[in-house]
Amino acid sequence: MITRTLIVSILLVWAALDSAAESDPVHGERPDALVIRNITYVDGAGVPARGPATIVVRDGVIDSILGATSPIPKMDGDVRIIDGTGKYALPGFINMHAHLHGPWGFNSLPLQFIYDLWLACGITTVRDVGSVATATLEERDKSAAGEIAAPRIFAYLWFPTGSVTGGLNTAERLSEKWLRGEVRRLKNMGADGMKLRHFDRDTITVVMDEANKQGLRVAHHVGVEDFDALDNAALGTTTIEHWYGIPEAAIPGVQEFPANFTYANELLRFRYAGRVWREADPDRLDLVLQSLVDANVGWNPTFAIYEAARDLQRALTQPAFDDYLHPALARYFEPDPSKHGSFFFGWTNTDEVYWRENYRIWMDAVKDFSDMGGLVTTGEDAGFIYQLFGFCYLRELQLHEEAGFHPLEVVQHATHNGAKALGKENELGRIRPGHIADIVIVNGNPLENLQVLMPRGLNETLDAQSGGGIAWTIKDGVPYSAETLLEHAREVVANARVEE
Ligand SMILES: [Zn+2]
Repeated sequence: MITRTLIVSILLVWAALDSAAESDPVHGERPDALVIRNITYVDGAGVPARGPATIVVRDGVIDSILGATSPIPKMDGDVRIIDGTGKYALPGFINMHAHLHGPWGFNSLPLQFIYDLWLACGITTVRDVGSVATATLEERDKSAAGEIAAPRIFAYLWFPTGSVTGGLNTAERLSEKWLRGEVRRLKNMGADGMKLRHFDRDTITVVMDEANKQGLRVAHHVGVEDFDALDNAALGTTTIEHWYGIPEAAIPGVQEFPANFTYANELLRFRYAGRVWREADPDRLDLVLQSLVDANVGWNPTFAIYEAARDLQRALTQPAFDDYLHPALARYFEPDPSKHGSFFFGWTNTDEVYWRENYRIWMDAVKDFSDMGGLVTTGEDAGFIYQLFGFCYLRELQLHEEAGFHPLEVVQHATHNGAKALGKENELGRIRPGHIADIVIVNGNPLENLQVLMPRGLNETLDAQSGGGIAWTIKDGVPYSAETLLEHAREVVANARVEE
């Protein structure tokens, strides 16, 4: 009797295993239908989690969301099933501040390595805010056509194209005719938007006017100019990157720069950037924030990219460096005045103390801005200042919680809000029937601990604390196994290290 029961049990288990294996999703292959059973999900619009439910994806679109016990509808073709028991589904993350650090610039990385890390960390969409225009446009199209395993890409091309530092250094280029022509040229190249950097008010006024006429959205990294956030509000910028221009608009007069300050000296630039928020007048700051909210200007604060400034030791000893720090990136990070963001020579404890205070005021301002109705998004800017692709983004989410946001709001920043800033809120950023099937499947509950999103295997103590990790990142209905993506990334790093 015992033997018979045992045999029957073994056969049942065998049958279960066998059928599970057959219906498992295949990494990188889009099935006709993907069914996520018994999953708890977060919509992305800031509302509480729902479920357990069954999410049905067909042809890359979320077709329906059913009760957990409803039968799976009969579907033709290749149907794959993910068992969501004990898991959470979130909308795919939108990284609003990305650079494609490809073989052509900055730190020469294989693009697939960057894409693998982004996807492994749940990022299904990136807004490229300045790389090499032609390359970004090509990659965007390849991703859209499903030819590469990569997040979808929105190309916010640098203005003017082909120039990182501006390049508006001739009378001709500063003429209204040239500036307007260049905006139209970007538009004709197929830009989804434009990234503006440090130009003076006269220039930006012309450029923004033409951008508005051409219907181009604009991400702006404001410099220390005669231009500040009040001008952004007047001209209708889509998002302010980082924070520059906001505290400046609330400082009566000019920041207390030392006599030897020049913008070209990155050590001084980052040192005094860490002392700007304390000089902002709180009442004026409220008015600035309100005017940004009124003008519908979003804020993409990118907290994580500056973290080395407040805690260099944390930045230098990230567990992910063991397996994922590509040697080309490691070289780029080494302190060197000629490289952007590699300013750690002469950095002091005093600098870190100022930066910690800077963060507190900055974070409060972002929270106030959001409470007033402002749109807050999440972006990383990785590839600079000791920040790794993907990992930096997940750290950004943790820092939004530190800024005072509920994890549900953090998820909203990372999904629905990003989609809104891109003008794609009807297609992206939510788990909702009709939306594109960009979904992150997490082992565990990220609302309980945002650290469960971090890849496993970085550190035993961390694994024991947070467990989890992302199981699947689904982009356009294509399931990618985070484990497989991470394995690829580790291989690339290991091989590059051997070659060096
Ligand atoms: Zn950037």
